[in-house]
Amino acid sequence: MARYIKGVCRLCRREGEKLFLKGPRCSTQKCSISKRSYAPGQHGSNSRRKLSNYGLQLREKQKVKRMYGVLERQFRRYFKIASKTKGVTGKVLLQLLERRLDNVIFRLGAGVSRSQARQIVRHNFVYVNSIRVNIPSYLVDKDNIIQIKAKDKSQKKIRENLELSQERSVPSWLEFNASELKAIVLRLPEKEDIQQPIQEQLIVELYSK
Ligand code: SF4
Repeated sequence: MARYIKGVCRLCRREGEKLFLKGPRCSTQKCSISKRSYAPGQHGSNSRRKLSNYGLQLREKQKVKRMYGVLERQFRRYFKIASKTKGVTGKVLLQLLERRLDNVIFRLGAGVSRSQARQIVRHNFVYVNSIRVNIPSYLVDKDNIIQIKAKDKSQKKIRENLELSQERSVPSWLEFNASELKAIVLRLPEKEDIQQPIQEQLIVELYSK
């Protein structure tokens, strides 16, 4: 699958807010947003234009895509599914993103960032209901049991990640047993479970044009 591989701090600077793409560094003074809170590029420091309605919608969509590490085609597919699902489209869209297996591993703290969590999934360390799943976009469901089984070095790394991620609490829709590296999906996530501010209505407006 295609993937963004350039410097991720540029993405936060472009959106003008922290997207927490680099793990513990994001909460320190080393964060690029703290040092240079303007858009990247030659004219970034003097691009303080007022955004049009379309611009605001576009930026919100880009922000969410970048937060979850999803590319345009897949993001659009999520929107299509959300618009056909019963419920408020914007909220269903966020729920789909939040249910991704790589996001779940990140939320548990086993990966310090979503990209690291994706690697943990890709490297065959994750089991859902005792079946190995190495697809980061796999959607977890209520009552799923998620277990991380890694050997020596990888296991040590995952435990280190848990230590580093301690300040991020595990959301209430998941129950996590850190000693067994085992989690249960208690319920499907709600918008309120996502701690970052997202105006999903802007995304719905953008795609509904
Ligand atoms: Fe974004 Fe983290 Fe880089 Fe700060 S350190 S700009 S939050 S990825």
